[in-house]
Amino acid sequence: MSTEATTTTSAACAHACSFTREKLEQVLKRRFFYAPAFEIYGGVAGLFDFGPPGCAFQNNIVDAWRKHFILEEDMLEVEATMLTPHDVLKTSGHVDRFSDWMCRDLKTGEIFRADHLVEEVLESRLKGDKAARGIEHKEEESDEKKKRKKKVKEIVLVKLDDDVVEEYESILAKIDGYSGPELGEIIEKHNIVNPVGGTKLEPPVPFNLMFDTAIGASGNLKGFLRPETAQGQFLNFNKLLDFNNGRMPFASASIGKSFRNEIAPRAGLLRVREFLMAEIEHYVDPLDKSHPKFKDVKHIKLNFLPKDIQEAGHAHVIESTIGEAVASGMVDNETLGYFLARVFLFLTKVGVNPNRMRFRQHMSNEMAHYASDCWDAELETSYGWIECVGCADRSAYDLTVHSQRTNQKLNVQQTLDEPITTEDFEATLAMKKFGPRFRKDAGKVQNFLLTRTQCEYEDLAKELNDTGKIVIQVPEIQDKIELDSEYIKIERVKRTTHVREYTPNVIEPSFGIGRIVYSILEHQFWTREGDEDRGVLSLPPIVAPTKVLLVPLSNNPELQPIVKNVSDFLRKQQIPFKVDDSSASIGKRYARNDELGTPFGITIDFDSLKDHSVTLRDRDSTKQVRGTYEDIVAAIREITYFHGNWEEATAKLTPFESQSEDA
Ligand code: AMP
Repeated sequence: MSTEATTTTSAACAHACSFTREKLEQVLKRRFFYAPAFEIYGGVAGLFDFGPPGCAFQNNIVDAWRKHFILEEDMLEVEATMLTPHDVLKTSGHVDRFSDWMCRDLKTGEIFRADHLVEEVLESRLKGDKAARGIEHKEEESDEKKKRKKKVKEIVLVKLDDDVVEEYESILAKIDGYSGPELGEIIEKHNIVNPVGGTKLEPPVPFNLMFDTAIGASGNLKGFLRPETAQGQFLNFNKLLDFNNGRMPFASASIGKSFRNEIAPRAGLLRVREFLMAEIEHYVDPLDKSHPKFKDVKHIKLNFLPKDIQEAGHAHVIESTIGEAVASGMVDNETLGYFLARVFLFLTKVGVNPNRMRFRQHMSNEMAHYASDCWDAELETSYGWIECVGCADRSAYDLTVHSQRTNQKLNVQQTLDEPITTEDFEATLAMKKFGPRFRKDAGKVQNFLLTRTQCEYEDLAKELNDTGKIVIQVPEIQDKIELDSEYIKIERVKRTTHVREYTPNVIEPSFGIGRIVYSILEHQFWTREGDEDRGVLSLPPIVAPTKVLLVPLSNNPELQPIVKNVSDFLRKQQIPFKVDDSSASIGKRYARNDELGTPFGITIDFDSLKDHSVTLRDRDSTKQVRGTYEDIVAAIREITYFHGNWEEATAKLTPFESQSEDA
């Protein structure tokens, strides 16, 4: 594990035990990290506004992301538009397949997301079973949960047969992999009904998650708000490759809003309808997925939940270095492995507790048909394990489909050291015959014939040879078409070439920033021992919204000039700070800022007037040291921006004990 990771681990572990979601929610609300959007109109589920500390915290995470990935990995940043025409998302598969399964209660009109309903009901039955067996189940309840509980029937204390418990646990372990019809069977078999009214539900039907719109006044150009930033990157592939002087491999990256019309938004920032994404598309040669920097990360240990463990109905993780995981074939290739390790380093750097992070592999029936491997970085919160970063090897799917649809090459031309001889099927068309026969459809038929894969040409060549004709079904043309050798010839042609053409494969790490923001807030929130009302957010200084709280001991005007001097100095050093010259006690002022995650406090007192000396307070340990404000600010800079730790950075300053922490 890296040193970056260990700094946050110890703080987080020590604090995890005193966490309660309800207290955190009160702090987030009180300090306006974020709040429901349109609240005074009653709010809209799944939409949130960020307040000042929330904005600063999220911006700092994005800034750390930019440095960790774009800067350190030389990625090419793209900002593509959020409004996307129908055709693009039809080609990518989103129009037909970007859906969740929903069940309707025809009687009440209520709508449920099928997999969430199954999960909720089975988990509740398992809790009822545990309680009935006398295995105590105690859990902190949030406002949201209490509200839900008022609606949902109380947990029923029913003891289940052992084989039923086993079956429920197995279903829950595989919940992400079921299709709609499979969820329908589970709902039927286990008599899952509307948890509130007990009414039977309609079988699951797909619900497309994209928000549709029309672009322009005529309404003719159908479009959607993008559900991810990826497509904008793929469509710019040629320009990016050119910008990169044709060199491979390389990566593009985008940070921006995405929109998904979630069936049942829930769990605060974890499932929302508009969220900030940061996505990387790393383009790699399909014949060589090694990564030049893999050796730098291969010692890093991660917690893996591979597909075979889940498919056997279990959920225990195995710890392994990323080097071993790739060598054993569990993780498909070095580039994917490299990114899993870099994701781990990033998340720990910004405050995720590594003990509450795991990498879960997609099961075979869960993974997109074109993907060759996929791992989600999941973070544990009081809502359970939640996917925060998806890392998929998407093969050549996206570039291939967009290229086929637009007839634009989206590939790489690699100049070879040694020429190679290839033998490929090629189709030759008698172009002049197509116009008179197919008229307006001639282009579509020709395009279809010229864009087949090698396997398809092989089959068509055999058909032409055996039967004297081929029969094809061209998309958007209703009837099948018969063509004989007057129209088309398909032959194997030998060619010697100095250039290899290939469509790159894409490794895609996709981050949901809101989910990361919330998980860090949970991982780093705790309350001071003996004073449960004093919450602390131990945010790493690099991402904390404000780095320093400047506190004059009193509001005596004599202190104002030195407050101004220190403020000017901090401003010059570009360290975000706030002055609190309210009349509240020092302890109260610090307590307020502990809740905002401000890592450092500088106290200015009457001695400061004499010798420029001020006191520096560490948020987590409440340790204090004294020195000139120049030296103190230098220590703050060292810790915040240059990975320094408290002991080393403040070694030359004088320990200080007098100011009281009492609120
Ligand atoms: P996906 O493209 O579905 O793999 O999503 C990529 C990432 O976006 C996930 O790992 C999440 O972090 C985030 N994400 C997806 N859906 C939501 C949502 N409804 N609310 C918040 N974040 C989301």
